[in-house]
Amino acid sequence: MSGAGPPRPLPQAPVNAQAQAVHNNRGRSGRIAFPVVEATGLVKRYGEREALRGVGLAASAGELVAVIGPNGAGKTTLLSILAGISKPDEGVVHMPAGVGWVPQQAGLYRRLTVEENLLLFARLERHPDPHGSVEEMLELTGLGERRGEVVARLSGGNQQRINIAIGLLSRPSVLLLDEPSVGLDPRQRARLWEFVSGLADERDTTVIFSTHDIQEAERYGGRLLVLADGESLFDGSPDALREAVRSEAPEAAERDFETAFVAFLHHRGH
Ligand code: ATP
Repeated sequence: MSGAGPPRPLPQAPVNAQAQAVHNNRGRSGRIAFPVVEATGLVKRYGEREALRGVGLAASAGELVAVIGPNGAGKTTLLSILAGISKPDEGVVHMPAGVGWVPQQAGLYRRLTVEENLLLFARLERHPDPHGSVEEMLELTGLGERRGEVVARLSGGNQQRINIAIGLLSRPSVLLLDEPSVGLDPRQRARLWEFVSGLADERDTTVIFSTHDIQEAERYGGRLLVLADGESLFDGSPDALREAVRSEAPEAAERDFETAFVAFLHHRGH
């Protein structure tokens, strides 16, 4: 919804291996893709419980990163730290000023219209031109035709669009989505991912999303970060994860990917 504090300078050189990988990559444009998002050594404790135990992540402009893992893995904790909503107990986070946050539970006013909801959030965020920002979001998300409809009457897919539109109001360079496709039917999911992928492809928005759906992660995530019990088990491309699953859980390699992935987690003690 809002920026994660004032812009902080990015270090001249990446500070960990994941950042190094991004640093060495060249983006679609052929330019060197510097990390836009960079987090290292994140630890988060809730009392005795360690929700994150030294997790790191780096992502460049236009990258789509899927954060996957079982219940309680630390996905929401990681995203909320990146969003600036929660503070880590240890570790360093470098984020740009404009970060869009789309939480699991949409805080929409169900009796208000689509347009009224957007306007309310634009005003709460103190946009200099709230009406202009709302028009832009209606256009971008394809919600223009629905602007006068009361939110309660919209499908789950369209409600999620409004939720994302609110996250995008401040034109963030990074969009964080916590399980955005939960409760959507396959057609609504496909439309959601078409839209989100378009943000990454056409606007160079860095998108980091969490999901329980391994197939969705594989399909739409250019990179996958696998968490389990607060630990980072894997960070790389879907192909590299398949390779890791094949080599670490060969008995399940020929099964469907989800089954093989569960076997991989089991081999890693989760
Ligand atoms: P899920 O897939 O179920 O949404 P997750 O991967 O998003 O899980 P988190 O919600 O980040 O996991 O939770 C990680 C761990 O931290 C869990 O054990 C959870 O119970 C604990 N936790 C999260 N938030 C709090 C909190 N506010 N107070 C205490 N414990 C918390």
